[in-house]
Amino acid sequence: MKIVIVGGVAGGMSAATRLRRLSEDADITVVERSGYVSFANCGLPYHVGGVIEDRSALLLQTPQSLAARFGIRVLVGHEVTSVDRGGRVVQVTGPDGEASLDYDALVLSPGARPVRPPIPGIERALSLRDIEDTDAMVDAVSGDVGSVVVIGGGFIGIELAENLRHRGLDVTIVEAADQVMAPLDPEMAAFVHQRLRESGVVLHLGAGVSAIGERDVTLADGSTVPADIVVAAIGVRPDSTLATDAGLEVDERGGIVVDEAMRTSDPAIYAVGDAVVKRDAVDGSAVMVPLANTANRQGRMVADVIMGRAAADRPVLGTAIVGVFGLQVATTGWNAKRLAAAGRPFRQIHTHPASHAGYYPGAAGLHLKLLVDPETDAILGAQALGEDGADKRIDVIATAMAGGITASRLADLELAYAPAFGSAKDPVNMLGYVAGNLRDGTVKSLQWDEVADRVSAGDVLLDTRTPEEVAAGAIPGAVNIPVDDLRDRLGELPEGSVVAYCAVGVRGYLAARILTQSGREAVNLDGGYTTWRAATGA
Ligand code: FAD
Repeated sequence: MKIVIVGGVAGGMSAATRLRRLSEDADITVVERSGYVSFANCGLPYHVGGVIEDRSALLLQTPQSLAARFGIRVLVGHEVTSVDRGGRVVQVTGPDGEASLDYDALVLSPGARPVRPPIPGIERALSLRDIEDTDAMVDAVSGDVGSVVVIGGGFIGIELAENLRHRGLDVTIVEAADQVMAPLDPEMAAFVHQRLRESGVVLHLGAGVSAIGERDVTLADGSTVPADIVVAAIGVRPDSTLATDAGLEVDERGGIVVDEAMRTSDPAIYAVGDAVVKRDAVDGSAVMVPLANTANRQGRMVADVIMGRAAADRPVLGTAIVGVFGLQVATTGWNAKRLAAAGRPFRQIHTHPASHAGYYPGAAGLHLKLLVDPETDAILGAQALGEDGADKRIDVIATAMAGGITASRLADLELAYAPAFGSAKDPVNMLGYVAGNLRDGTVKSLQWDEVADRVSAGDVLLDTRTPEEVAAGAIPGAVNIPVDDLRDRLGELPEGSVVAYCAVGVRGYLAARILTQSGREAVNLDGGYTTWRAATGA
């Protein structure tokens, strides 16, 4: 069987090597437009920053190593320019001119291309997608430069900002939205903004770039930001020109439409990776999720399909993580913004636990958020930030979501524990306890953005922290009765429903339980003062 694969990185190379493992007889050719194959695109920003010093560490394979180990023919510096579907032949352009390759099965894994909006001067902006881009960026930052503007505060923009700071440059991020990292809700993104600013990155949020000059960038408000170098990290769009030209079905975003077996609208042509439309795990809608795990998985899976094995793609949660100057920022599923925009009911839970038992040295603070369907208790999404352990919490929750484990059942998960690694009630278990309490009505919670309205409506705002904590900052208008004194001082509380809060939500929960059992209406401020302060910037 002759198989031609377009694109020799994540999806394409996973397909090629799995094909060989399944069949010694398959005739496998990989055509790759860039000069390199199987390179580590996720590592590129770290080579720009000098963290990965050795450029060759990014080059995981060469055409020679792939030929030797897998018997795969790899043509780098070659581009597939057209597909003759009737004749099952592709046209290839390379250094030696044109050639044609016939196929029984064609796999498209062309990836995505950086978005480059038509801003005057955009030709001066660098983008990062492949080794050639990386070499150009390393060259640029090695020269006599002091300032860089990164347009876009998504994952790649932030990774580049960190790495360019690492190289000693003055870095400004210009982001059109009010926050960086769209998968986070704003109160969670606030922690990222703080970390970026503390690390010397200047943030221009809610700011568009109107022009790129020789040594600066002009923002929509007319102000200018110095920029010896400009990086465009505005996002990616599927590289589906070849598929479109071949008459394959492509959606309005340019994503190649495939079935569960990764077949395109032509049964002899398959497509995988960033270029294809995926099925969302929360609502089954068509989504574009350009991440490496899914590209690799789809690449491996399509080989099984081609070799006649039963295999089906799975929906995507979009589980992702990025490092921000030592802060792990991880997400899975949907956030509150997206749920609200879709008109879906949801419950929010914020906690701020320690990464492991507080009495064991080195515990770091975590900020966790869980989104729950209030009717079914299904987990809809989660966000986790912290210097340690955010990654494993998100991975556990993503696994729970994939397995259909509900929010309150997170409490029952048996997770590895010793003081250096977690807590006997792990932060994920605790999210489950909170979810169960909310589901059962054991306690009611209030979100940070509902406090002002409740206070204006006459509710009593009760700060259950110690006077020392209150002196360091409190929500205006609160009455302070520390939780340990509350039972004895109930009579001091003015009439009305009570909104109880503390630093992170634990003592507020206790206070709400004391109050409701004494016949008062009470709710707990979810995530406590920590979430409220991060969200409001107070
Ligand atoms: P790619 O890996 O991009 O491969 C597509 C290849 O096809 C390209 O090399 C292209 O040259 C080639 N090609 C396209 N058209 C043709 C043609 N007509 N003929 C020949 N060749 C062609 N994801 C994560 O999950 N985590 C991360 O930390 C992360 N970091 C990233 C950092 C950077 C800087 C970048 C650029 C991406 C990052 N990603 C990350 C995304 C991840 O790399 C992609 O999701 C993944 O590589 C997609 O695999 P793919 O096979 O679809 O496309």
